[in-house]
Amino acid sequence: MTHSIQNLSRRRLIQLAAAGVALPSALALNGCSATGSRKGAGHIVVVGGGFGGSAMAKYLKRYNPELNVTLIEPNQTYVTCPGSNWVIGGFTEMQEITHTYEAAKKRGIDVVHEMVTVVDPQKQTVKLAGGKTLSYDKLVVSPGIDFKWDVHEGVNADTANSLPHAYKAGDQTLLLRDQLRAMKNGGTFLMIAPPNPFRCPPGPYERVGMVAHYLKTHKPKSKILILDQKNNFSKQGLFMEGWESQYGQMIEWVSLDDGGKLHSIDVANKTVEAGYGEVKADVINYIPPQKAGELAAKIGLTNESGFCPVNQQTFESTIHKNIYVIGDACIAGPMPKSGHSATSQAKTAAANIVLAMAGQETLSAKNVNTCYSLITPDYAISVAAVYDVVDGKIVDVKGAGGVSPMRATPQVRKMEANYTRGWYRSITDEVWG
Ligand SMILES: Cc1cc2nc3c(=O)[nH]c(=O)nc-3n(C[C@H](O)[C@H](O)[C@H](O)COP(=O)(O)OP(=O)(O)OC[C@H]3O[C@@H](n4cnc5c(N)ncnc54)[C@H](O)[C@@H]3O)c2cc1C
Repeated sequence: MTHSIQNLSRRRLIQLAAAGVALPSALALNGCSATGSRKGAGHIVVVGGGFGGSAMAKYLKRYNPELNVTLIEPNQTYVTCPGSNWVIGGFTEMQEITHTYEAAKKRGIDVVHEMVTVVDPQKQTVKLAGGKTLSYDKLVVSPGIDFKWDVHEGVNADTANSLPHAYKAGDQTLLLRDQLRAMKNGGTFLMIAPPNPFRCPPGPYERVGMVAHYLKTHKPKSKILILDQKNNFSKQGLFMEGWESQYGQMIEWVSLDDGGKLHSIDVANKTVEAGYGEVKADVINYIPPQKAGELAAKIGLTNESGFCPVNQQTFESTIHKNIYVIGDACIAGPMPKSGHSATSQAKTAAANIVLAMAGQETLSAKNVNTCYSLITPDYAISVAAVYDVVDGKIVDVKGAGGVSPMRATPQVRKMEANYTRGWYRSITDEVWG
């Protein structure tokens, strides 16, 4: 494994040691060298060039350079959701969070910019929108999330053009940023935060801080109201402490049971009906309930939850053999749906695919997650965890990881803000570099 370890914090090193760094020795123990063998060669098709899919393609090639790896992703570039809240906050540009597939191509990965329309798990084939059909030995599916538009009255996929969710980064990010810029001083920014499970549990709340940062700087009479579709959220105490100390009374959070429950949205009049009563807002950031990316259901990989059950050790689907599901689309016990989790799962699943192709036994690797959240550009908090597999289930490793302390000094919060940017650079280099 050739992680660039020079610039990593001790904490990050421990996390890496707990996950990826353990893999090569495990592979060697199982008799599968990093260069692999002819016996292990074959064709692996990876669908989705986000965190999970891109990391998967890279590590498959790294663990066995003789494998033929095809990465299928419709977009020429990938805009990360991590960092997209900073764009909305007005201090990061889109090009800083946009990545290309050039490194993957140089590594010998066949990158195909198309949509997968059909998968036949029996024939082991994948059909592309352009009509071409590819066959695979193993298929990896990492399509991220899609939205459930039928839960709340008044909204559908088209209304996202006027009420941006900005929960897939790109045009939606810019739309929300521009609406915020156009909002009057003294206006109301309303967020409808999604029910569990959803991608990036701290994501909506980091966004609230970034919107508040913009408003405090440019439109200080404005207000942020969060109507939440749940009763608590990730790093809640830390977020609330930070909101109050940095933004005073600007932010109001309403839990599901205390009035957050959303009944309907009148998109044209920017008005919502909720337990709280009728709310008229200037900008509405409706983040819909979520499910696995559409393709997963189309292939029949999902269960009643809308996400994909997998073998918790290998990430192979429990429904279709030879198909692996990683990232936001899979059900991975307590692991949050994050870019960091997707990358960690990609490494574990890649090792298991290489072993399976070589006729070797599967391995149980530890997975990791870290989520940093900015509250201001100079104030951040974080959560980290390590996961093991016990009795076939992913579980937290007790005593590993943790969250930032409450009532920390401004220096500690600033240090974490520096780590946040360092984390972004290292993970995007790991996935697209
Ligand atoms: C506002 C926000 C902030 C976030 N901040 C963080 C953070 O700080 N740290 C963190 O770790 N995570 C963060 N996340 C979460 C992170 O973005 C996701 O968890 C991560 O992107 C999941 O990776 P994935 O591979 O499962 O899906 P994605 O990264 O979404 O990739 C899926 C890819 O599949 C492609 N695709 C879909 N369907 C098809 C098809 N049929 N054919 C071909 N390709 C297809 C899509 O085009 C897409 O590129 C944040 C998310 C949001 C919304």
